Amino acid sequence: MALLTTEALVLRGYKLGETSKVVVLLTRERGKVRAVARGARGGRPRYQSALEPLSEVRVSLYGRQGAELLRLGEAELLHSAFRAGTRSLEAALFLSGCSELLDAFSSEGEAEDRVYRLALAVVEAAEKGASPELLGRYLEAWLLKLHGLYPPLDRCAACGGELPATGALAYHRAAHGFVCGSCGPASGPDLPADSRRLLVEFFRRPPDALGEAGPAARPVEAFHRDLIAAHLERDLRAPRVIREVARETGR
Ligand SMILES: [Zn+2]
Repeated sequence: MALLTTEALVLRGYKLGETSKVVVLLTRERGKVRAVARGARGGRPRYQSALEPLSEVRVSLYGRQGAELLRLGEAELLHSAFRAGTRSLEAALFLSGCSELLDAFSSEGEAEDRVYRLALAVVEAAEKGASPELLGRYLEAWLLKLHGLYPPLDRCAACGGELPATGALAYHRAAHGFVCGSCGPASGPDLPADSRRLLVEFFRRPPDALGEAGPAARPVEAFHRDLIAAHLERDLRAPRVIREVARETGR
């Protein structure tokens, strides 16, 4: 009997031997899980396109409770992210960044239904043609927030006082948050007023209602990179690739 039957998002896969793969799944019921997919490669691959990154699948997993590595039984494709990835190079890169980010933020054996639903909503918004740049910032903002790592936008992290309701925000690394004028000077980075408004929108709206990307998103990217690197103690690979491609294509 299967240890677990659950819906899952495929985060990534790597080769194992001649014909198998290890897949990393974000399961709805048990957080991140690694499983061996026998026969997933080779001349007649068993799972076909079900194991592509960000596909949503229903899987049966076999193995011992608490094992590091399970075995994949059936994998029924519920939804493929393929269409979202064909919209543009930018969209394809966004999706690869999306699985890297989800992988980095998820823990094994810990169900995070809100993260799961967030990931589904973001992939769906990408399919509908939402701006990959904004979706990237949106996903980062929510992953940080759901993990308790997003500093409040309205309170000074040093004195606890209320910050002015509008205007630029000054981040201070030592305080892990935004600080008021009397608690400064802040280490930075600074968030201009329009970037702050964008963040407020992120925390208010679903990902398919974000509008067009504009200059306000850039400072948010740098800010999130800082927060993510501090949390993971490393930089992610995909955002660097995206920046390089943007430079090459002159965007
Ligand atoms: Zn203060």
